Amino acid sequence: MSLDFLPQIDPAKCIGCELCVKLCPNSVLAMVDHIAVVSAPEACEYTGTCQEICPTLAISLTYEIIFKKKKKGGSSQRTNV
Ligand code: SF4
Repeated sequence: MSLDFLPQIDPAKCIGCELCVKLCPNSVLAMVDHIAVVSAPEACEYTGTCQEICPTLAISLTYEIIFKKKKKGGSSQRTNV
C-alpha cells in the first residue's frame, strides 16, 4: 500500500530503543545512526503501532481530513493534520 502521508519521527526525541523497528508489523522502520527512520514507506499501512509504543512520543501520525461541500457539484478540500 502506498500512502500520501507517513509517520513523522522527531530525531531529537528518539533515544534509539528500536521498539518501533522491532514491533512494526510491516517492517517499515529501520535504524540509521541510532535514530529510527521510515525506510520502507511503500509498506506502511498506518497501523499506529509505532506511535503507540514509542516511549518518548517521538513518532506522530498525520491524518487526512476531507471536507465536503454541501452544494451539489462542489469539490472537496483535503487537509493533512
Ligand atoms: S520507539 Fe521511539 S525512541 Fe524508540 S527507536 Fe522508535 S522512534 Fe526512537
